Formats: sequence, structure tokens, C-alpha cells
Amino acid sequence: MRDGQAVARWIADAKRITALTGAGISTDSGIPDFRGPNGVWTRNPGAQRLFTLRDYVSDPDIRREAWQIRRAHAAWTARPNAAHYALVDLEATGRLRAVITQNIDGLHQLAGTSEDLVIEVHGSLYEVECLSCGSRFAMSDTLERVAAGDEDPACLRCGGILKAGTISFGQPLVPEVFAKARAAAADCDLFLAAGTSLSVQPVAGLIDVAKQQGAKVVILNAEPTPYDQVADAKLSEPIGSLLPRLVGGSRAASAG
Ligand code: NAD
Repeated sequence: MRDGQAVARWIADAKRITALTGAGISTDSGIPDFRGPNGVWTRNPGAQRLFTLRDYVSDPDIRREAWQIRRAHAAWTARPNAAHYALVDLEATGRLRAVITQNIDGLHQLAGTSEDLVIEVHGSLYEVECLSCGSRFAMSDTLERVAAGDEDPACLRCGGILKAGTISFGQPLVPEVFAKARAAAADCDLFLAAGTSLSVQPVAGLIDVAKQQGAKVVILNAEPTPYDQVADAKLSEPIGSLLPRLVGGSRAASAG
């Protein structure tokens, strides 16, 4: 396994970098991950029902609870952290091809990563979708309805069930969005996975796609992942300090 200096050199030398981010890049912003030591599932495994499509559709109590959880989501007050800004710095070098993110929190865009570089494979917390007619609404408008006492708001067009525009368990990804992510994984010479346990498919499989196309694969994650042996390098330090150091170090490496 390589050390941070080698990885900074690879970042400096790469021509097309694709990043894949997960909940671990936002923990320093105060948004808990799912499977880390303080993760939502780790602390309360039963909470998964709230994010399972079948349960959401069949049980109004689950929907009511899910809307209250949306209202209280840490993302509404969270600010990007140094790791998000490091990717903005990387974009400024003109070599960042895409930021595929499993996060729904919008913090990459808030940090300043260009909208057209961000591929939100698990959707966005800022949108709401009707499960019947597909109409989309702003989350802020829907949460106002919830706050005003409409605890399980129905679609304003067809009366169908509304759900946050995020991918739940048992819900397929949006094919065009995943196709874009796949293309970005296939068309890079460095694939940088940061803050993801790589335990959710098909997104984790993008590592194989990048590797098969000859890209170097770097994983930055505190805990082991199923892809550590496939990666060319795995670094386990906290991302908030590691990623800015690697990107900054890559500038020094490209100058030297
Ligand atoms: P995950 O919880 O499965 O894994 C996160 C990983 O990040 C863990 O292995 C953890 O050890 C690591 N980690 C946490 N903080 C870190 C830090 N500061 N430095 C280094 N490593 C750190 O998350 P995932 O892989 O993204 O997959 C879970 C799903 O959860 C995704 O589908 C995503 O949609 C959803 N999710 C999103 C958010 C968000 O938008 N911020 C938050 C929680 C969950």
C-alpha cells in the first residue's frame, strides 16, 4: 500500500480525476453517516424501515415519522467542510471530471463545485417526488405544509404519496443518472473514493468499472471497505484534514 505522498503525486499527475463521495465526507459538517461508529444505522438499526420504499408506501405512520425526520435534518444548517472545499480546489486545476456523490445533502454544490460536475446518484434532499405521477416539488414548500399540520402531505396534482427525492431501499436508481456516473468512472485515470463504506451497490461497483478501464483507484475511508484490496492505495486518516493535504500536496508535487 502507498502512502500519502505517493497519492498526492498521483493526484498531481492525473489528467482526468473522478471522485466518488459518501456520507463520511459530510460527518465533519455535522451530518452523521449511516454505518460509521456514530452512524444512524449503527445506533438505531430499526431506522432503516423509514428509508425502505415498501414500508414507506404501506404505512402512513412511517411517512409521518419520515417527514418529521426530514424537517429536523442536519443538512438544513450544515456548512461544507475542508474536504468539500478540497474538491473545489481540485476542480480549479481543470482536471476534475466528475463528483459522483451518494450524499443527498447538497454540500458539494454549496461549497462551490460546479452543478454540472456533481452526479447525485442517490438523489437530493432538496426535492420531493410524487410516487404516482412523478411530479416534483421543492422540499422547502412541502416541509412548510408539514409544519402547518399536514403530517402526510399528498401530491398537489394527483393526490398520490409524496416522498423525498432520495433513493430508498428497494427503489431503483434513475438509469440516466447512473449511466452518467458509470461513464465518469470509465473515463478517468484516477478514481478517488472518499468517505464511503462502499457497501451500497451498484455504486460501489464503479470501483471495478474504473479499475477495468485502467484507472488508479484510491480509497480514503476511516474503516475497512470491501474494495481495499482492489485499490492502488487506501488511506484511513480523517478526510477533513487528509483530502486538503493531498490536494495541496499534489500542487507541490506537480511543481517539484
Ligand atoms: P456509510 O455510512 O455506509 O459509510 C461512511 C464511511 O465513512 C464509514 O465507513 C466511515 O468510517 C467513514 N467516515 C466517516 N467519517 C469519516 C471521516 N471524517 N474521515 C474518514 N472516514 C470517515 O455511507 P455511504 O458509503 O455514503 O453509504 C450510505 C448511504 O447513506 C448513501 O446511500 C447515502 O445516500 C446515504 N447518506 C447520506 C448522507 C449525506 O447526504 N450526508 C448521510 C448519511 C447517509
